[in-house]
Amino acid sequence: MTTELLFRSDAYLKTAQAQVIAVHERGIELDRTIFYPMGGGQMGDSGVLLRASGEAIAIADTRKGDAIDSVLHIAASSTPLEPWEMLTLEIDWQRRYALMRLHTALHVMSCVVVAPVTGGNISPDKARLDFDIDMSRLDAEKIEQETNALIARGAETETVWITEEELDARPELVKTMSVQPPRGGGRVRLLRIPGIDLQPCGGTHVKNIAEIGAIRVLKIRSEGRRNKRVEIALAT
Ligand SMILES: [Zn+2]
Repeated sequence: MTTELLFRSDAYLKTAQAQVIAVHERGIELDRTIFYPMGGGQMGDSGVLLRASGEAIAIADTRKGDAIDSVLHIAASSTPLEPWEMLTLEIDWQRRYALMRLHTALHVMSCVVVAPVTGGNISPDKARLDFDIDMSRLDAEKIEQETNALIARGAETETVWITEEELDARPELVKTMSVQPPRGGGRVRLLRIPGIDLQPCGGTHVKNIAEIGAIRVLKIRSEGRRNKRVEIALAT
């Protein structure tokens, strides 16, 4: 079943109303959601679903379902919910905002380290990208300074949609070798940071990169011949 993905047009929604459309062993499906399902290296959201009675159902994780745009809200314990029940959704905003800041920071860093991206992950306290690059070209201090200098430009981020055909005609847009851009429905979502970055991404981002504050490089290490890992955290 398909869920309307409210976070796609507004990543800042902390609460919303939704109706239960299905409850099964894999999770709870709603007609609309603000919970981001794990994908593109970004962890799934946690939070609560509030019933009309005031009872709170803790959501431990959010994952994609089998169908396009289907989202599975995974309850921390068994749930009494019934289909068609109306709920108030609340995401763990502090955690999600940290994910948004770190996720957007990776976009900026991917323009400082110019090399194919072979992997990536974003958790609330740290994020990393893996590059197909020689270790000698990775200097933690330089990456930190150049990334923070770009962040200080305070550019507004923009969401751009293109067709799958347009993306196929511009393969240079895809920096991430391990993660294919989110496809389906004939169009692909891009994140543009004017003057800095443009790449396919289905994740949640901050409106202005100044919200990142600054980053620090936690470590750089080799994870294999084509995986040189740069791990960062928020400095502020
Ligand atoms: Zn992104």
